[in-house]
Amino acid sequence: MDRSTDYFERAKERDRDIVCSHSLGETIDRLRELNLLQSRTPTCNSDQCEGQNIRMRVQIDQSRLDGQNFRCSSCNSKRAMRFRSIFQDTRVPIGCLYRLFLAFIQEMTNEEGMEYADCSIKTLRSVFRYLRRSIATAVDQERQGMQLTEVNGVLRGGIEMDESLFTHIVELGDDRVSQQVWVFGMIERNTNRFICYVLGNTASKTTQNIRPLIARHVQTNQNNPTQIYTDGAMIYSYLQNEHYAHTVVVHQNGFGEGDNTTNHTEALWARLKGAGRFKKSKNFKTLTAVQDEIDLITWMVQTPKATRLTVLSQICARNYQQSQLKIIDQ
Ligand SMILES: [Zn+2]
Repeated sequence: MDRSTDYFERAKERDRDIVCSHSLGETIDRLRELNLLQSRTPTCNSDQCEGQNIRMRVQIDQSRLDGQNFRCSSCNSKRAMRFRSIFQDTRVPIGCLYRLFLAFIQEMTNEEGMEYADCSIKTLRSVFRYLRRSIATAVDQERQGMQLTEVNGVLRGGIEMDESLFTHIVELGDDRVSQQVWVFGMIERNTNRFICYVLGNTASKTTQNIRPLIARHVQTNQNNPTQIYTDGAMIYSYLQNEHYAHTVVVHQNGFGEGDNTTNHTEALWARLKGAGRFKKSKNFKTLTAVQDEIDLITWMVQTPKATRLTVLSQICARNYQQSQLKIIDQ
């Protein structure tokens, strides 16, 4: 058993043990450790204690929603366990919320998730929607500043670029129609870092659309031109006239050999489309919604299952501070 598998098993077992224990206390401890609930006790800010930096204490309080709360030993004022957390405006039981997080990272279906968390479809959808949105926002933010060419100040090279059609189903009353969008991907071979952008409908595959994306994420200069590999599509021909080293891989001869390939992008599309994950998604009303879905799949593909709960919790904790997203009860 290699180390990553071992780690995954331990991470999985830990959460499974807590879920099986049905212990409210252990669940809360785990959520505090993940920063989904306040990990440190809050400072009391009552009129009496304001500015004195008095830490509140955790105490058992069976009359409270979560069976615990924070109490100030000086003025005796109390705070809910969900005080200043993403859960503060929901009354869904904390064990159910924890299980919904686990159901989400394990990519359970809605039916499996409802049974696992013992909740209604509305609660599940509300939480899943919140998590999807949080991840898409995080992936988008990370992408804005990402440089494929530069890692820790070192210029690398060897970037493959490609476009691929993604098909999804749109339901129209009791009828359905499939729609296609172009997705443009760039991948750096040494680090396997990649960036995907949804371009738009079938007419969106143009130089005008990809040029600013390449300029944003791929640095190059005359003395040290960045090596780019693409297929023979006309949209890339402008690269010859700028400071890139552009190699065209001819697909008629397979996907190329040695360094001269676009195998990395082909593998990327296979992963993103794998298990029909994208195709199952329905009724995207806007291109932004399609991009969000691509970003979610990207996150799932890049984040090993063993670390997903930790990473997702970090995203949520950050979200709470930035945009005060809340899970709304249904
Ligand atoms: Zn106080």
